[in-house]
Amino acid sequence: LLEMNHIKKSFDGQEVLKDISIHVDEGEVLSIIGPSGSGKSTMLRCATMLETIDDGAIIYLGDKAAFSKDGHAVYAKAADLKKIHSYYGLVFQNFNLFPHYSVIKNITDAPLRVQKRNKSEVYAEARELLKKMGLEDKENAYPYQLSGGQQQRVSIARALAMKPKILFFDEPTSALDPELTGEILKIIKNLAAEKMTMVIVTHEMNFAKNVSDYVVFMDKGVIVEEGKPEDVFNSENPRMKEFLGKFE
Ligand code: ATP
Ligand code: MG
Repeated sequence: LLEMNHIKKSFDGQEVLKDISIHVDEGEVLSIIGPSGSGKSTMLRCATMLETIDDGAIIYLGDKAAFSKDGHAVYAKAADLKKIHSYYGLVFQNFNLFPHYSVIKNITDAPLRVQKRNKSEVYAEARELLKKMGLEDKENAYPYQLSGGQQQRVSIARALAMKPKILFFDEPTSALDPELTGEILKIIKNLAAEKMTMVIVTHEMNFAKNVSDYVVFMDKGVIVEEGKPEDVFNSENPRMKEFLGKFE
């Protein structure tokens, strides 16, 4: 479904991604773990075209979103990029809801404005999603009236309302206290059980171990270790062991 091949990215001459390759199959959950500053968010931002790449290729369902040619990154034409954008959704650490929109408007805005879908259908689906998130009584609330966990559930509903083929999460629980963290992890776990394809940057090691099909450990812009969770979490690699030791 998604391939990132030999991605490189530098900021001000500092190489933050050094030849990163990943691929994600349909229905698969990929977790990305690694120390602060290792390039996890940058990789997600490159995958979702929030950041340009310097080298390599990004391919969604066979459609090339970006690739390098003669040392320059080339992006798909606007019309193709628009299609590619419709393949994925993104959930951030800080929820990023529109503060001046009600919950239901946050969820329905993009399907109506960007996808130009039918209003009654979009509202019906949004209410369905709110129900799934346990927020059916909050559709007219504003983000400031919600707890962090509730805001994050709205932002997951907002991403799902676009019917993405793949959902990216960048530390979806790191702004939440433990109780609310569990609530969000449970929702992601349910999505995994429904075979939603997901890429999750997380510091929740137990979650990565139990929910992912595949784990990538990044350090200083390179993938140091990757594979099935049982293998990665039992790795003898010293950097991996040192990193995991911090969570014990
Ligand atoms: P964390 O776990 O703290 O979120 P991370 O693995 O997500 O860390 P990144 O945010 O990808 O790390 O950052 C990797 C490196 O790239 C850091 O050294 C950071 O300072 C640098 N970096 C990221 N974005 C930019 C930017 N827009 N301009 C300059 N440097 C940047
Ligand atoms: Mg980050």
